Amino acid sequence: MTPPTGRAGRWVAVLAVLLAGLTVGWLSWLAFGSGDARLGSSASPTAALTPGAPGRSSPPDPAVPGGPSAASTAPGGTPLAGLTVALDPGHNGANATAPRQVGAPVPDGRGGTKACNTAGTSTDDGYPEHAFAWDVAARTAASLEALGARVVLTRPDDEGVGPCVDVRGAFAQEAGADVLVSVHANGTEDRSVRGFFVIVADPPPVVEQDPAAREANAAESDALAGDMVEALVAAGFAPSPLFPDGVSRRADLATLNLAERPAVLLELGEMRNAEEAAVMTSDEGRQRYADAVAAGLVAWVAGAAR
Ligand SMILES: [Zn+2]
Repeated sequence: MTPPTGRAGRWVAVLAVLLAGLTVGWLSWLAFGSGDARLGSSASPTAALTPGAPGRSSPPDPAVPGGPSAASTAPGGTPLAGLTVALDPGHNGANATAPRQVGAPVPDGRGGTKACNTAGTSTDDGYPEHAFAWDVAARTAASLEALGARVVLTRPDDEGVGPCVDVRGAFAQEAGADVLVSVHANGTEDRSVRGFFVIVADPPPVVEQDPAAREANAAESDALAGDMVEALVAAGFAPSPLFPDGVSRRADLATLNLAERPAVLLELGEMRNAEEAAVMTSDEGRQRYADAVAAGLVAWVAGAAR
């Protein structure tokens, strides 16, 4: 295009510059001026690394008719459509290399402090809990997405340090998720002990300011724990003899104490038990765990619809 010349041409050029400035300003307002953009920047750094940034402005309550469960009867086989699940693969691959960072005190959600994180346990052959948790969470994420859910993870890979347990606990609400599921395996020294258990916060987290929401979240956490136990049993896993109904109630886990959403922490098995270690170190075994966790969430959403 030939540049405009002469007096009229200069005016056209000035007008074009003005229009361009207005357009840039308008686009900047669109990109940075909206509440959603600020919401995104307030989310944790980990959330920002997660594919699919927080997007829903007001997460529906799974217990409310018309919430995410409303889609469960929709044709097409996506019973989790509308649900955002925060998955927390326990520990991290480089935690053992950063003892000072991992051992630093962070809020425990009960007025005290707790170590940022730990290196986790492992099988006797050296297969680490962080790798197991990461792989099961990744497989669970794929299953959940196939069922229509959106999934956000507390860590982007199995190579880093942290995040700390207080960040993991607050992650669901920070990321706009409806529910938090933390994935771990246990390391009881007595190698004859085997079996899974599901942990819920008891008493319920105190961070939720609204008493009604606090009670509702506690009831939903209990319901989710029961659904997880049933799904794991249905998949052929046995509950730990330490907790005959499969549910452990604890006040000392910051991951659960700081959750303002329904939350459970899964100890999927005993890594020092040879039989369970064999299942955990196999692709097929980890897929079976992942499918059971996804089935537990499907049952929980279906239960909320009744
Ligand atoms: Zn763990």
